[in-house]
Amino acid sequence: MTDYITTFYGLSSAKCDWCKRVYNPHPDYCEPIPVKRITLSKNLSIYLCFSCFETETEKSKLNDNNLLNRIKEKSKTLKLVNLND
Ligand SMILES: [Zn+2]
Repeated sequence: MTDYITTFYGLSSAKCDWCKRVYNPHPDYCEPIPVKRITLSKNLSIYLCFSCFETETEKSKLNDNNLLNRIKEKSKTLKLVNLND
């Protein structure tokens, strides 16, 4: 698909930047949460769990530019209010 979105399974440091989940919510799996890394710039990547990623994708109506802009804006806002530690 696109080279700025990478999917990781079993990444021990995995954590969703939106909902802060670190474990796979599925009861049959005891493992780190699968995440998608979205590369926004050279120094900035955002990790989202599949659930948050789906939500963002739906909200941006499957348009990659919208998706990246949405995530960029949201990460900026989170940084401003200091929730994105
Ligand atoms: Zn999430």
